[in-house]
Amino acid sequence: MDGTFNENDISRVVEADRAHIWHHLFQHKPLETNDPRIIVEGKGMRVWDQKGKEHLDAVSGGVWTVNVGYGRESICKAVYNQLMKMNYFAQSAGSIPGSIFAEMLIDKMPGMSRVYYTNSGSEANEKAFKMVRQIAHKRYGGKKYKILYRDRDYHGGTLAAMSAGGQDERNVQYGPFAPGFVRVPHCMEYRKHELGLENLSGEDFGIAAANLIEEVILREDPDTVGALCLEPVTAGGGVIEAPEGYWPRVQEICRKYDILLHIDEVVCGVGRTGTEWFGYQHYGVEPDFVTMAKGVASGYAAIACMVTTERVFDMFKDDASDPLNYFRDISTFGGCTAGPAAAIENMRIIEDENLLQNCTDMGARLDANLRELMGKHKVIGDVRGKGLFQGAELVADRDTKEPVDEKLGQAVVADCMAQGVIIGVTNRSVPGKNNTLCFSPALIATADDIDRITEAVDGALGRVFG
Ligand code: PMP
Repeated sequence: MDGTFNENDISRVVEADRAHIWHHLFQHKPLETNDPRIIVEGKGMRVWDQKGKEHLDAVSGGVWTVNVGYGRESICKAVYNQLMKMNYFAQSAGSIPGSIFAEMLIDKMPGMSRVYYTNSGSEANEKAFKMVRQIAHKRYGGKKYKILYRDRDYHGGTLAAMSAGGQDERNVQYGPFAPGFVRVPHCMEYRKHELGLENLSGEDFGIAAANLIEEVILREDPDTVGALCLEPVTAGGGVIEAPEGYWPRVQEICRKYDILLHIDEVVCGVGRTGTEWFGYQHYGVEPDFVTMAKGVASGYAAIACMVTTERVFDMFKDDASDPLNYFRDISTFGGCTAGPAAAIENMRIIEDENLLQNCTDMGARLDANLRELMGKHKVIGDVRGKGLFQGAELVADRDTKEPVDEKLGQAVVADCMAQGVIIGVTNRSVPGKNNTLCFSPALIATADDIDRITEAVDGALGRVFG
Protein backbone atom coordinates (compact mmCIF):
# COMPACT_ATOMS: atom_id res chain seq x y z
CA MET A 1 0.00 0.00 0.00
CA ASP A 2 1.81 3.18 -1.04
CA GLY A 3 -0.91 5.78 -0.66
CA THR A 4 0.04 7.77 -3.80
CA PHE A 5 -2.56 8.82 -6.34
CA ASN A 6 -2.87 10.39 -9.69
CA GLU A 7 -2.94 14.03 -8.67
CA ASN A 8 -5.26 15.08 -11.52
CA ASP A 9 -7.91 12.52 -10.74
CA ILE A 10 -7.90 13.35 -7.07
CA SER A 11 -8.23 17.07 -7.64
CA ARG A 12 -11.27 16.31 -9.82
CA VAL A 13 -12.76 14.24 -7.01
CA VAL A 14 -12.11 17.07 -4.56
CA GLU A 15 -13.77 19.59 -6.88
CA ALA A 16 -16.79 17.33 -7.37
CA ASP A 17 -17.02 16.94 -3.61
CA ARG A 18 -16.85 20.67 -3.05
CA ALA A 19 -19.44 21.31 -5.75
CA HIS A 20 -21.95 18.56 -5.03
CA ILE A 21 -21.54 16.67 -1.78
CA TRP A 22 -23.50 17.57 1.32
CA HIS A 23 -21.47 15.88 4.06
CA HIS A 24 -23.25 14.43 7.09
CA LEU A 25 -23.15 16.25 10.41
CA PHE A 26 -21.04 18.99 8.88
CA GLN A 27 -20.81 22.79 8.73
CA HIS A 28 -19.71 23.48 5.15
CA LYS A 29 -18.51 27.07 5.42
CA PRO A 30 -14.84 26.13 6.08
CA LEU A 31 -14.82 24.09 2.86
CA GLU A 32 -15.04 27.30 0.86
CA THR A 33 -11.33 27.65 1.60
CA ASN A 34 -10.21 24.23 2.92
CA ASP A 35 -10.15 20.89 1.14
CA PRO A 36 -12.73 18.32 2.15
CA ARG A 37 -11.30 15.14 3.61
CA ILE A 38 -11.80 12.17 1.34
CA ILE A 39 -10.89 8.71 2.58
CA VAL A 40 -9.67 6.70 -0.35
CA GLU A 41 -8.32 3.48 1.07
CA GLY A 42 -8.32 1.31 4.18
CA LYS A 43 -6.46 -1.72 5.48
CA GLY A 44 -6.78 -3.25 8.93
CA MET A 45 -6.90 -0.40 11.47
CA ARG A 46 -5.64 2.24 9.05
CA VAL A 47 -7.11 4.54 6.39
CA TRP A 48 -5.47 6.86 3.86
CA ASP A 49 -6.84 10.22 2.74
CA GLN A 50 -6.61 11.86 -0.67
CA LYS A 51 -3.26 13.39 0.20
CA GLY A 52 -1.81 9.95 0.93
CA LYS A 53 -1.72 10.65 4.66
CA GLU A 54 -2.06 7.57 6.85
CA HIS A 55 -4.42 7.63 9.84
CA LEU A 56 -4.87 5.13 12.65
CA ASP A 57 -8.65 4.88 12.97
CA ALA A 58 -9.72 4.80 16.62
CA VAL A 59 -13.41 5.16 15.80
CA SER A 60 -14.03 2.31 13.31
CA GLY A 61 -15.11 4.37 10.34
CA GLY A 62 -16.07 7.46 12.34
CA VAL A 63 -19.18 6.00 13.94
CA TRP A 64 -18.22 2.67 15.63
CA THR A 65 -18.97 0.59 12.57
CA VAL A 66 -16.03 -1.24 10.99
CA ASN A 67 -15.68 -3.85 13.74
CA VAL A 68 -13.46 -6.29 11.80
CA GLY A 69 -11.28 -3.63 10.16
CA TYR A 70 -10.75 -2.57 6.55
CA GLY A 71 -9.82 -4.56 3.46
CA ARG A 72 -11.32 -7.94 4.40
CA GLU A 73 -11.03 -9.95 1.21
CA SER A 74 -13.22 -12.83 2.42
CA ILE A 75 -16.17 -10.50 3.06
CA CYS A 76 -15.76 -8.83 -0.34
CA LYS A 77 -15.62 -12.22 -2.06
CA ALA A 78 -18.70 -13.47 -0.20
CA VAL A 79 -20.60 -10.35 -1.28
CA TYR A 80 -19.39 -10.63 -4.88
CA ASN A 81 -20.37 -14.29 -5.13
CA GLN A 82 -23.78 -13.66 -3.64
CA LEU A 83 -24.49 -10.67 -5.90
CA MET A 84 -23.55 -12.64 -9.01
CA LYS A 85 -25.96 -15.38 -7.96
CA MET A 86 -28.86 -13.29 -6.66
CA ASN A 87 -28.68 -9.64 -5.71
CA TYR A 88 -32.18 -8.72 -4.74
CA PHE A 89 -35.70 -9.81 -4.20
CA ALA A 90 -38.22 -8.23 -1.82
CA GLN A 91 -38.24 -9.79 1.63
CA SER A 92 -41.81 -11.03 1.19
CA ALA A 93 -39.73 -13.91 -0.19
CA GLY A 94 -36.68 -15.21 1.65
CA SER A 95 -33.04 -15.47 0.56
CA ILE A 96 -30.26 -17.97 1.20
CA PRO A 97 -27.89 -15.59 3.04
CA GLY A 98 -30.85 -14.01 4.87
CA SER A 99 -31.85 -17.40 6.32
CA ILE A 100 -28.30 -18.46 7.14
CA PHE A 101 -27.44 -15.23 8.90
CA ALA A 102 -30.74 -15.24 10.82
CA GLU A 103 -29.93 -18.71 12.15
CA MET A 104 -26.38 -17.69 13.12
CA LEU A 105 -27.70 -14.59 14.86
CA ILE A 106 -30.50 -16.27 16.76
CA ASP A 107 -28.02 -18.88 17.91
CA LYS A 108 -26.18 -16.05 19.69
CA MET A 109 -29.35 -14.55 21.19
CA PRO A 110 -31.08 -17.01 23.54
CA GLY A 111 -34.74 -16.11 23.95
CA MET A 112 -35.00 -14.34 20.60
CA SER A 113 -36.32 -15.96 17.47
CA ARG A 114 -37.28 -13.70 14.53
CA VAL A 115 -35.21 -11.38 12.35
CA TYR A 116 -36.71 -8.49 10.36
CA TYR A 117 -34.21 -7.02 7.88
CA THR A 118 -33.98 -3.29 7.24
CA ASN A 119 -31.24 -1.04 5.97
CA SER A 120 -30.43 1.37 8.78
CA GLY A 121 -30.47 1.53 12.54
CA SER A 122 -33.11 4.27 12.54
CA GLU A 123 -35.34 2.16 10.38
CA ALA A 124 -34.85 -0.96 12.52
CA ASN A 125 -35.91 1.07 15.57
CA GLU A 126 -38.95 2.41 13.76
CA LYS A 127 -40.03 -1.13 12.91
CA ALA A 128 -40.06 -1.97 16.62
CA PHE A 129 -41.99 1.25 17.35
CA LYS A 130 -44.55 0.31 14.72
CA MET A 131 -44.93 -3.16 16.17
CA VAL A 132 -45.55 -1.66 19.61
CA ARG A 133 -48.25 0.56 18.14
CA GLN A 134 -49.85 -2.34 16.32
CA ILE A 135 -49.81 -4.50 19.45
CA ALA A 136 -51.50 -1.61 21.27
CA HIS A 137 -54.24 -1.62 18.64
CA LYS A 138 -54.60 -5.38 18.52
CA ARG A 139 -54.54 -6.08 22.25
CA TYR A 140 -55.26 -2.91 24.20
CA GLY A 141 -57.82 -0.98 22.14
CA GLY A 142 -55.07 1.41 21.01
CA LYS A 143 -54.41 2.56 24.59
CA LYS A 144 -50.95 1.16 25.33
CA TYR A 145 -49.22 3.19 22.65
CA LYS A 146 -46.60 5.26 24.48
CA ILE A 147 -42.93 4.56 23.98
CA LEU A 148 -40.50 5.62 26.70
CA TYR A 149 -36.97 6.64 25.79
CA ARG A 150 -34.12 7.91 27.93
CA ASP A 151 -32.38 11.23 28.25
CA ARG A 152 -28.98 11.06 26.44
CA ASP A 153 -29.89 8.01 24.32
CA TYR A 154 -30.11 8.24 20.54
CA HIS A 155 -32.12 6.03 18.22
CA GLY A 156 -31.74 7.57 14.79
CA GLY A 157 -32.23 10.52 12.47
CA THR A 158 -35.69 9.83 11.03
CA LEU A 159 -38.52 11.78 12.58
CA ALA A 160 -40.09 9.06 14.73
CA ALA A 161 -36.63 7.90 15.85
CA MET A 162 -35.86 11.52 16.72
CA SER A 163 -39.09 11.65 18.68
CA ALA A 164 -37.37 9.04 20.84
CA GLY A 165 -34.18 11.09 20.91
CA GLY A 166 -32.65 12.04 24.24
CA GLN A 167 -29.99 14.37 22.84
CA ASP A 168 -31.66 17.76 22.61
CA GLU A 169 -28.90 19.40 20.60
CA ARG A 170 -29.80 17.12 17.69
CA ASN A 171 -33.50 17.85 18.01
CA VAL A 172 -34.04 21.50 18.86
CA GLN A 173 -34.53 22.73 15.32
CA TYR A 174 -36.55 19.84 13.90
CA GLY A 175 -39.80 19.69 15.83
CA PRO A 176 -42.65 19.13 16.12
CA PHE A 177 -42.12 15.45 16.74
CA ALA A 178 -44.37 12.41 16.73
CA PRO A 179 -46.72 12.18 19.72
CA GLY A 180 -46.63 9.32 22.19
CA PHE A 181 -42.89 9.35 22.99
CA VAL A 182 -42.06 10.13 26.60
CA ARG A 183 -38.65 10.82 28.11
CA VAL A 184 -37.26 9.16 31.23
CA PRO A 185 -34.15 10.35 33.12
CA HIS A 186 -30.65 9.05 32.38
CA CYS A 187 -28.66 6.79 34.72
CA MET A 188 -25.23 8.38 34.54
CA GLU A 189 -23.46 8.06 37.87
CA TYR A 190 -20.88 10.73 37.05
CA ARG A 191 -23.66 13.31 36.69
CA LYS A 192 -26.02 11.91 39.30
CA HIS A 193 -26.35 15.38 40.82
CA GLU A 194 -28.51 16.25 37.78
CA LEU A 195 -30.95 13.59 39.03
CA GLY A 196 -30.90 14.74 42.65
CA LEU A 197 -29.34 11.38 43.59
CA GLU A 198 -25.88 12.64 44.60
CA ASN A 199 -26.10 10.93 47.99
CA LEU A 200 -26.39 7.45 46.50
CA SER A 201 -23.74 5.31 44.90
CA GLY A 202 -23.19 1.92 43.25
CA GLU A 203 -26.15 -0.42 43.34
CA ASP A 204 -28.27 1.95 45.44
CA PHE A 205 -27.86 4.61 42.78
CA GLY A 206 -28.59 2.09 39.99
CA ILE A 207 -31.86 1.01 41.60
CA ALA A 208 -32.86 4.60 42.32
CA ALA A 209 -32.14 5.62 38.71
CA ALA A 210 -34.34 2.76 37.46
CA ASN A 211 -37.05 3.81 39.92
CA LEU A 212 -37.13 7.19 38.17
CA ILE A 213 -38.45 5.30 35.13
CA GLU A 214 -41.22 3.81 37.25
CA GLU A 215 -42.17 7.29 38.42
CA VAL A 216 -42.68 8.35 34.80
CA ILE A 217 -44.74 5.22 34.09
CA LEU A 218 -47.01 5.92 37.06
CA ARG A 219 -47.35 9.58 36.07
CA GLU A 220 -48.28 8.63 32.48
CA ASP A 221 -50.56 5.73 33.57
CA PRO A 222 -49.07 2.24 33.05
CA ASP A 223 -52.03 1.25 30.86
CA THR A 224 -50.84 3.74 28.26
CA VAL A 225 -47.18 2.66 28.17
CA GLY A 226 -46.32 0.02 25.57
CA ALA A 227 -42.53 -0.05 25.45
CA LEU A 228 -39.28 1.20 26.92
CA CYS A 229 -36.41 1.76 24.48
CA LEU A 230 -32.84 1.92 25.86
CA GLU A 231 -29.27 1.71 24.65
CA PRO A 232 -27.38 -0.98 26.64
CA VAL A 233 -24.41 1.37 26.89
CA THR A 234 -25.30 4.88 25.75
CA ALA A 235 -23.06 5.85 22.86
CA GLY A 236 -23.29 9.39 21.44
CA GLY A 237 -24.82 10.67 24.69
CA GLY A 238 -21.43 10.25 26.40
CA VAL A 239 -20.46 6.53 26.54
CA ILE A 240 -22.46 5.62 29.63
CA GLU A 241 -22.72 2.18 31.19
CA ALA A 242 -25.60 1.81 33.62
CA PRO A 243 -24.60 1.21 37.24
CA GLU A 244 -24.99 -2.07 39.10
CA GLY A 245 -28.58 -2.78 40.07
CA TYR A 246 -30.08 -0.77 37.21
CA TRP A 247 -30.90 -3.49 34.68
CA PRO A 248 -32.52 -6.04 37.03
CA ARG A 249 -34.77 -3.28 38.33
CA VAL A 250 -35.58 -2.09 34.77
CA GLN A 251 -36.54 -5.64 33.83
CA GLU A 252 -38.71 -5.96 36.94
CA ILE A 253 -40.49 -2.69 36.18
CA CYS A 254 -41.18 -3.72 32.58
CA ARG A 255 -42.65 -7.05 33.70
CA LYS A 256 -44.71 -5.43 36.43
CA TYR A 257 -46.47 -3.07 34.01
CA ASP A 258 -46.48 -5.34 30.94
CA ILE A 259 -44.11 -3.03 29.05
CA LEU A 260 -42.06 -4.36 26.13
CA LEU A 261 -38.33 -3.82 26.48
CA HIS A 262 -36.57 -2.63 23.33
CA ILE A 263 -32.77 -2.66 23.43
CA ASP A 264 -31.01 -0.58 20.77
CA GLU A 265 -27.77 -2.43 19.99
CA VAL A 266 -26.97 -0.34 16.91
CA VAL A 267 -23.60 0.60 18.42
CA CYS A 268 -22.99 -2.11 21.04
CA GLY A 269 -24.09 -5.08 18.95
CA VAL A 270 -21.88 -7.72 17.39
CA GLY A 271 -18.96 -7.62 19.75
CA ARG A 272 -18.22 -3.96 20.45
CA THR A 273 -18.45 -4.33 24.24
CA GLY A 274 -16.28 -7.49 24.40
CA THR A 275 -16.87 -11.07 25.67
CA GLU A 276 -20.58 -11.07 24.76
CA TRP A 277 -22.07 -10.60 21.30
CA PHE A 278 -24.50 -7.97 22.53
CA GLY A 279 -24.36 -5.29 25.18
CA TYR A 280 -27.52 -6.41 26.99
CA GLN A 281 -26.04 -9.88 27.50
CA HIS A 282 -23.59 -8.50 30.08
CA TYR A 283 -26.50 -7.60 32.34
CA GLY A 284 -28.78 -10.63 32.08
CA VAL A 285 -31.51 -8.61 30.37
CA GLU A 286 -34.29 -10.43 28.49
CA PRO A 287 -35.47 -8.01 25.82
CA ASP A 288 -38.55 -8.18 23.60
CA PHE A 289 -36.91 -6.27 20.73
CA VAL A 290 -33.25 -5.92 19.83
CA THR A 291 -32.20 -3.62 17.00
CA MET A 292 -28.76 -3.60 15.42
CA ALA A 293 -26.95 -2.11 12.44
CA LYS A 294 -23.41 -0.70 12.32
CA GLY A 295 -21.17 -3.67 13.25
CA VAL A 296 -23.48 -6.32 11.77
CA ALA A 297 -21.51 -6.31 8.52
CA SER A 298 -18.80 -3.81 9.57
CA GLY A 299 -19.91 -1.42 6.80
CA TYR A 300 -19.08 -3.83 3.94
CA ALA A 301 -22.77 -3.68 3.00
CA ALA A 302 -25.77 -1.87 4.42
CA ILE A 303 -27.70 -4.12 6.77
CA ALA A 304 -29.74 -3.65 9.91
CA CYS A 305 -32.08 -5.97 11.80
CA MET A 306 -34.94 -5.80 14.20
CA VAL A 307 -34.94 -9.02 16.21
CA THR A 308 -37.82 -10.14 18.40
CA THR A 309 -39.25 -13.10 20.29
CA GLU A 310 -41.63 -15.83 19.17
CA ARG A 311 -44.13 -14.38 21.64
CA VAL A 312 -44.21 -11.04 19.79
CA PHE A 313 -44.16 -12.82 16.41
CA ASP A 314 -47.18 -14.91 17.40
CA MET A 315 -49.20 -11.79 18.13
CA PHE A 316 -49.03 -10.98 14.41
CA LYS A 317 -50.22 -14.28 13.05
CA ASP A 318 -53.28 -15.10 15.07
CA ASP A 319 -56.62 -14.71 13.29
CA ALA A 320 -55.14 -14.99 9.79
CA SER A 321 -58.53 -14.37 8.18
CA ASP A 322 -58.37 -10.69 9.25
CA PRO A 323 -56.59 -8.79 6.44
CA LEU A 324 -55.23 -6.22 8.92
CA ASN A 325 -53.76 -8.83 11.20
CA TYR A 326 -50.16 -8.96 10.10
CA PHE A 327 -47.23 -6.54 10.19
CA ARG A 328 -48.12 -4.39 7.18
CA ASP A 329 -44.66 -3.04 6.60
CA ILE A 330 -41.86 -3.31 4.07
CA SER A 331 -38.30 -2.10 3.71
CA THR A 332 -37.25 -2.31 0.07
CA PHE A 333 -33.53 -2.65 0.68
CA GLY A 334 -34.13 -5.03 3.57
CA GLY A 335 -34.25 -7.51 0.68
CA CYS A 336 -30.68 -6.89 -0.48
CA THR A 337 -28.64 -10.05 -0.18
CA ALA A 338 -25.26 -8.28 0.04
CA GLY A 339 -26.02 -7.35 3.68
CA PRO A 340 -26.55 -10.84 5.12
CA ALA A 341 -23.80 -12.29 2.88
CA ALA A 342 -21.36 -9.79 4.40
CA ALA A 343 -22.79 -10.32 7.90
CA ILE A 344 -22.24 -14.09 7.77
CA GLU A 345 -18.58 -13.65 6.95
CA ASN A 346 -18.22 -10.81 9.46
CA MET A 347 -19.52 -13.05 12.23
CA ARG A 348 -17.25 -15.93 11.16
CA ILE A 349 -14.23 -13.63 11.32
CA ILE A 350 -15.13 -12.51 14.84
CA GLU A 351 -15.39 -16.17 15.89
CA ASP A 352 -12.34 -17.49 14.02
CA GLU A 353 -10.08 -14.68 15.21
CA ASN A 354 -11.43 -14.73 18.76
CA LEU A 355 -12.22 -11.02 18.52
CA LEU A 356 -14.68 -10.93 21.42
CA GLN A 357 -11.78 -11.82 23.69
CA ASN A 358 -9.40 -9.41 21.97
CA CYS A 359 -12.00 -6.69 22.41
CA THR A 360 -12.15 -7.38 26.16
CA ASP A 361 -8.36 -7.48 26.50
CA MET A 362 -7.68 -4.39 24.40
CA GLY A 363 -10.62 -2.59 26.02
CA ALA A 364 -9.01 -3.20 29.43
CA ARG A 365 -5.73 -1.80 28.10
CA LEU A 366 -7.43 1.26 26.66
CA ASP A 367 -9.27 1.81 29.92
CA ALA A 368 -6.03 1.50 31.92
CA ASN A 369 -4.18 3.86 29.56
CA LEU A 370 -6.95 6.46 29.76
CA ARG A 371 -6.96 6.22 33.56
CA GLU A 372 -3.22 6.85 33.52
CA LEU A 373 -3.84 9.96 31.41
CA MET A 374 -6.43 11.01 33.96
CA GLY A 375 -3.67 11.05 36.57
CA LYS A 376 -1.69 13.39 34.37
CA HIS A 377 -4.35 15.66 32.85
CA LYS A 378 -6.83 17.09 35.30
CA VAL A 379 -9.12 18.04 32.42
CA ILE A 380 -10.22 14.38 32.26
CA GLY A 381 -13.03 14.15 34.80
CA ASP A 382 -14.16 10.59 34.13
CA VAL A 383 -13.17 7.52 32.12
CA ARG A 384 -15.85 4.97 31.33
CA GLY A 385 -17.07 2.37 28.86
CA LYS A 386 -17.07 -1.31 28.09
CA GLY A 387 -14.77 -3.28 25.80
CA LEU A 388 -13.46 -1.27 22.86
CA PHE A 389 -16.06 1.36 23.52
CA GLN A 390 -14.56 3.94 25.86
CA GLY A 391 -15.05 7.60 26.67
CA ALA A 392 -13.09 10.26 28.55
CA GLU A 393 -15.17 13.20 29.72
CA LEU A 394 -13.45 16.61 29.72
CA VAL A 395 -14.25 19.05 32.52
CA ALA A 396 -12.97 22.51 33.42
CA ASP A 397 -13.25 21.68 37.12
CA ARG A 398 -13.27 18.21 38.64
CA ASP A 399 -15.24 19.29 41.71
CA THR A 400 -18.07 21.10 39.97
CA LYS A 401 -17.82 18.88 36.84
CA GLU A 402 -18.27 22.02 34.82
CA PRO A 403 -17.69 21.02 31.19
CA VAL A 404 -14.95 22.50 29.04
CA ASP A 405 -15.97 24.59 26.07
CA GLU A 406 -16.97 22.27 23.25
CA LYS A 407 -14.45 23.90 20.90
CA LEU A 408 -11.69 22.56 23.15
CA GLY A 409 -12.94 19.00 22.77
CA GLN A 410 -12.90 19.52 19.03
CA ALA A 411 -9.39 20.96 19.26
CA VAL A 412 -8.22 17.70 20.89
CA VAL A 413 -9.75 15.73 18.02
CA ALA A 414 -8.09 18.04 15.46
CA ASP A 415 -4.71 17.72 17.17
CA CYS A 416 -4.97 13.91 17.14
CA MET A 417 -5.95 14.07 13.48
CA ALA A 418 -2.83 16.11 12.72
CA GLN A 419 -0.85 13.34 14.44
CA GLY A 420 -2.51 10.73 12.22
CA VAL A 421 -4.95 9.33 14.78
CA ILE A 422 -8.71 9.65 14.32
CA ILE A 423 -10.70 9.87 17.56
CA GLY A 424 -14.21 11.22 18.18
CA VAL A 425 -15.94 13.58 20.57
CA THR A 426 -19.57 13.85 21.57
CA ASN A 427 -20.62 17.41 22.23
CA ARG A 428 -23.65 18.14 24.23
CA SER A 429 -24.68 21.76 23.83
CA VAL A 430 -28.20 21.77 25.32
CA PRO A 431 -29.33 21.36 28.01
CA GLY A 432 -26.15 21.71 29.99
CA LYS A 433 -22.95 20.97 28.17
CA ASN A 434 -20.35 18.32 28.12
CA ASN A 435 -17.68 16.82 25.97
CA THR A 436 -16.61 13.23 25.93
CA LEU A 437 -13.70 12.00 23.85
CA CYS A 438 -14.75 8.71 22.22
CA PHE A 439 -12.70 5.68 21.33
CA SER A 440 -14.05 2.69 19.45
CA PRO A 441 -11.22 1.08 17.50
CA ALA A 442 -11.86 -2.06 15.48
CA LEU A 443 -11.96 -5.29 17.47
CA ILE A 444 -8.67 -6.32 15.83
CA ALA A 445 -6.73 -3.54 17.61
CA THR A 446 -3.32 -4.55 18.96
CA ALA A 447 -1.60 -3.34 22.13
CA ASP A 448 0.60 -1.10 19.95
CA ASP A 449 -2.47 0.47 18.33
CA ILE A 450 -4.03 1.16 21.73
CA ASP A 451 -0.81 2.71 23.04
CA ARG A 452 -0.42 4.84 19.93
CA ILE A 453 -3.98 6.14 20.33
CA THR A 454 -3.43 7.11 23.96
CA GLU A 455 -0.03 8.67 23.18
CA ALA A 456 -1.73 10.91 20.61
CA VAL A 457 -4.40 11.92 23.14
CA ASP A 458 -1.71 12.60 25.75
CA GLY A 459 0.11 14.94 23.34
CA ALA A 460 -3.11 16.65 22.24
CA LEU A 461 -4.32 17.28 25.82
CA GLY A 462 -0.92 18.74 26.68
CA ARG A 463 -1.06 21.16 23.76
CA VAL A 464 -4.72 22.14 24.06
CA PHE A 465 -4.89 22.48 27.86
CA GLY A 466 -1.23 23.12 28.71
N1 PMP B 1 -29.20 3.89 17.45
C1 PMP B 1 -27.98 4.24 17.91
C2 PMP B 1 -27.63 3.89 19.32
C3 PMP B 1 -27.08 4.92 17.09
O1 PMP B 1 -25.88 5.31 17.57
C4 PMP B 1 -27.45 5.20 15.75
C5 PMP B 1 -26.50 5.87 14.78
N2 PMP B 1 -25.51 6.63 15.29
C6 PMP B 1 -28.73 4.83 15.31
C7 PMP B 1 -29.56 4.16 16.17
C8 PMP B 1 -29.19 5.13 13.92
O2 PMP B 1 -28.59 4.32 12.99
P1 PMP B 1 -28.55 4.74 11.45
O3 PMP B 1 -27.66 5.92 11.33
O4 PMP B 1 -28.05 3.51 10.78
O5 PMP B 1 -29.95 5.04 11.06
